[in-house]
Amino acid sequence: MQTIILLGAPGAGKGTLAERVRDVAHYTHVSTGDMLRAAVKAGTPTGLEAKRYMEAGELVPDAVIMRLVEERLARDGDGKYMFDGFPRTDAQAVMLDEVLARAGAKVDKVFLLDVPQDVIVGRISGRRVCRKCGAVYHVANIPPKVEGVCDQCGGELYQRADDCEATVLNRLEVYNRQTAGLIDFYNKKGVLVRIDASASPKATADAMLELLG
Ligand code: ADP
Ligand code: ZN
Repeated sequence: MQTIILLGAPGAGKGTLAERVRDVAHYTHVSTGDMLRAAVKAGTPTGLEAKRYMEAGELVPDAVIMRLVEERLARDGDGKYMFDGFPRTDAQAVMLDEVLARAGAKVDKVFLLDVPQDVIVGRISGRRVCRKCGAVYHVANIPPKVEGVCDQCGGELYQRADDCEATVLNRLEVYNRQTAGLIDFYNKKGVLVRIDASASPKATADAMLELLG
């Protein structure tokens, strides 16, 4: 089992980068944000619980997240995992270590996506997502071939409810308060790698693929 983590503020480009790296290096992409949005859409008990936190830009409780992740790992089994948007708190990071240790594995590398805060707000406000397959676009930086339509599946593109400006500012604050501490946590373990994510999605993905070898 191999595990890598994408760490970075909301809008740093974790999802876009993950799509590219998944397709080239064949990692299983585990995005807790995507899993939560799917649960909200399906109206499951987890989705009903998570919805109000997500709309406010707050973190969903650790217990809910860990249940989702453990179920996912149990279903997929041994493999190459790329976590995106997880872990997001110290407690989640500690629990992930425990889950992996039980499988005789550990966190192999953590990629910290470095982007200045002003770039981030522009990225999030222009972000559009496919309703059907979850592919990520940006009105200016990664436009679809036809406006409002997914290149990959023809699905409708929409703007996430939590991508409005008021919520974005809260999400950045939540990141700084609850998630940024993980930089130090993984740095101490010697697994942290910084990548400059202010460049184009392709350049960022190429830099990461090179580091993966
Ligand atoms: P972004 O990285 O752009 O904020 P995500 O899709 O990763 O977007 O997350 C969207 C929302 O889902 C978060 O604001 C939070 O409410 C919830 N969420 C996702 N992953 C986690 C997690 N690991 N822990 C707690 N909440 C999470
Ligand atoms: Zn699509």
